[in-house]
Amino acid sequence: MLLTELAKSCRALSCRVEENAPMAHFTSFKIGGPADLLVTAPDAKAAGEVLALCRERELPVLFLGNGTNMLVSDEGVRGVVLRLAGDTTAELACRDGVISCPAGLPLKVLCRFARDNGLAGLEFAYGIPGTVGGAVFMNAGAYGGQIADVLCSARALYPDGSVREVALPEMKLGYRRSVFMEEKAVVVSAVVRLTPDDPQAVTARMEEFLRRRREKQPLEYPSAGSFFKRPEGYFAGALIEESGLKGFTVGGAQVSEKHAGFVINRGGATCADVRSLASRVQEKVLRDHGVELEPEVRFIG
Ligand SMILES: Cc1cc2nc3c(=O)[nH]c(=O)nc-3n(C[C@H](O)[C@H](O)[C@H](O)COP(=O)(O)OP(=O)(O)OC[C@H]3O[C@@H](n4cnc5c(N)ncnc54)[C@H](O)[C@@H]3O)c2cc1C
Repeated sequence: MLLTELAKSCRALSCRVEENAPMAHFTSFKIGGPADLLVTAPDAKAAGEVLALCRERELPVLFLGNGTNMLVSDEGVRGVVLRLAGDTTAELACRDGVISCPAGLPLKVLCRFARDNGLAGLEFAYGIPGTVGGAVFMNAGAYGGQIADVLCSARALYPDGSVREVALPEMKLGYRRSVFMEEKAVVVSAVVRLTPDDPQAVTARMEEFLRRRREKQPLEYPSAGSFFKRPEGYFAGALIEESGLKGFTVGGAQVSEKHAGFVINRGGATCADVRSLASRVQEKVLRDHGVELEPEVRFIG
């Protein structure tokens, strides 16, 4: 009843609402049971209003970007899963290399916009399959770059309903870490500052990073990217490989043969398969190397 009434209020705010939405359809791992209510807000204002409605009803809210760094439980998610529409045709404006972008925008759209405007700085991010908001929340990075290198500020919605412009130093961005994790804030937009460069040179660097991804990563299978964080002084993939776990399988989940840092869904993997595989990998690596592997992927539910 509570959810039916909430669904109606969300629709009145021009949100798209889906009841019992299978999270497997909304995550790159293709794993996860149903979300009671999946609400796609057209913009930050509507998202703020949905959050307020959930707060009044004391309903839990999970914020979803593009679902590329998540492992959702087989039981699904109770309450509301909220996301911002990822309008790929959003009007992006650039002034002196400074671009303001909505959080729901796919990162690759921002990368292409930068490239087409002869701006350097986001090449590392080309090929990271998330949204701009997800990249800020996770401080996404690759090939020696990270979003923190180009970010100026972000606008965030807080659980108490306030909206704040947050400057870079306040975001406490670290390795796959941001202050938004502790504050449970939703990033609704971000401002990046890029550097003018020859468009051909920018394109060449992007293509090179993409080539390396295709060569090294099992992109033909559903996954959530690197499953574990890089432990200081090591590479998770190398430790897992040295422990003889390449190809190690539990149900439909497998340590990729191509890149041991990736856990892939070979078909029909459940969250329970992945969790069981991940803990066995952690145990063996700890036994063999004395290193504790910490998941980078966010466990939901
Ligand atoms: C093939 C593959 C390759 C990858 N390569 C890389 C890589 O090179 N480097 C890298 O860093 N990551 C990589 N990833 C992981 C992932 O793409 C990044 O972490 C990305 O930033 C997640 O963005 P998302 O929008 O998909 O977030 P989601 O997976 O939807 O969410 C991840 C977390 O962020 C939160 N979140 C999402 N959006 C917001 C928001 N607007 N406000 C507040 N919280 C939010 C969610 O609640 C969740 O806790 C890869 C993943 C895949 C599948």
